[in-house]
Amino acid sequence: MKISIVGTGYVGLCTGVGFASKGNDVICVDIDKEKVDKINSGIPPIYEQGLEEMLKKNLDEKRIRATADIKDAVMNSDVTFISVGTPSWEDGSIDLKYIEQASLDIGNVLKEKGGYHVVVVKSTVVPETTEKVALPALEKASGKKAGEGFGVCMNPEFLKEGMALEDFLNPDRVVIGQLDEKSGSRVHKLYEAFNAPIIMTTLRTAEMIKYAANAFLAAKIGMINEIGNLCKRLGIDTNEVANGIGHDKRIGDKFLRSGIGFGGSCFPKDVKALIAKSRESGYEPVILDHVIKMNNEQPLQIFELLKRKMPDISGKTIAILGLAFKAETDDIREAPALKIVDALVKAGAKVKAYDPKAMDNFRKEFPDITYCSNAAEAIEGSEVCLILTDWKEFDLSDKDFESMSNRLILEGRRILRKEKVKEFEGVCW
Ligand code: NAD
Repeated sequence: MKISIVGTGYVGLCTGVGFASKGNDVICVDIDKEKVDKINSGIPPIYEQGLEEMLKKNLDEKRIRATADIKDAVMNSDVTFISVGTPSWEDGSIDLKYIEQASLDIGNVLKEKGGYHVVVVKSTVVPETTEKVALPALEKASGKKAGEGFGVCMNPEFLKEGMALEDFLNPDRVVIGQLDEKSGSRVHKLYEAFNAPIIMTTLRTAEMIKYAANAFLAAKIGMINEIGNLCKRLGIDTNEVANGIGHDKRIGDKFLRSGIGFGGSCFPKDVKALIAKSRESGYEPVILDHVIKMNNEQPLQIFELLKRKMPDISGKTIAILGLAFKAETDDIREAPALKIVDALVKAGAKVKAYDPKAMDNFRKEFPDITYCSNAAEAIEGSEVCLILTDWKEFDLSDKDFESMSNRLILEGRRILRKEKVKEFEGVCW
């Protein structure tokens, strides 16, 4: 099938490369010309495992290309996915201006295009958005009626950053919200090449499924962190507790790692957006509100632990290993490291940081801390070492910490192992 994808971020580019690898012809569109040029020269603008190789392969086989020209993309495809960003406003509700603009841009081209075209919202949008924002914008700009001149679907994306391509290609399920059967059947056809159950539903139910999934997972992390904070005070290792409950099939063993909290562009943003939508609809959420409050405070558990061990950190040199919100990504959006480094700097500590992929992004927020070219450089001469991201390379041994001037190692992610490092403390273990 001929596909165009508007927005080439984590979701758009992985969707594009994924569909191309399934034999479709893909055109990626972005308003950012620099991203378009990079993609066309085989360099993904973001870091994701395996993405560069698969992008290059599909470019060589001429199954994917990028453009800044929406007309070129829509005219030369049968289905257009919208995967632009949906950032938060101050009150947590989502800013839909990119969705609206992309819908107007696509609609403008549909005005001139003959034949049937399906527009699919893939961005995470609160229930009713496809019907009340995207669809009217498409109708207004195209002068055509949805369901007659063009079809509309909503197809939420469940990929995880760090495993984005792998997740896109091997989803647990595919959800397709359809305006009508004609729209849905075209998108269904596209996903038949994937080995996953396909759930057909309404537009707003598909939107809600995405939020419900993220809200459940965020709450699960919040719950194990709460248990973890209590375990820490009672001398219990939360990970043993997690193991004990994870075998219970009703609970499951995924998303049961306690630590310094969740970050990234999805969980915090999506739970806040669901809270805002809930209030707008007249229901005051109870649990969701607390999931956010709990997670806002969780990163500082490691700072509090440090203060209990070393009451005055002013002038102390502190090595930070890991800045990204999780391993295998360069994304620092809502990363716990942002709050922790801020607290350390405000308390007068000297921060030496290292992350394999996220330092360029972090430098934009904290230009004045010291950045190191590897973990050993950050550790050397430091009095404290905090581990904030579970990169495999931070699975260090005692000898790696010998160059510290004082040895206080605190862990936020449980990457260090007792067999390799004698003395360290975890935030919840
Ligand atoms: P992103 O910010 O990385 O990328 C969005 C891209 O859209 C940018 O490159 C931007 O230049 C482009 N863009 C904006 N307006 C445009 C327009 N009118 N025409 C063409 N391009 C335009 O965003 P992302 O992380 O890929 O997320 C996209 C959506 O998918 C969001 O709604 C997000 O919540 C959702 N989502 C993200 C993830 C994730 O892990 N990042 C997972 C699932 C769902």
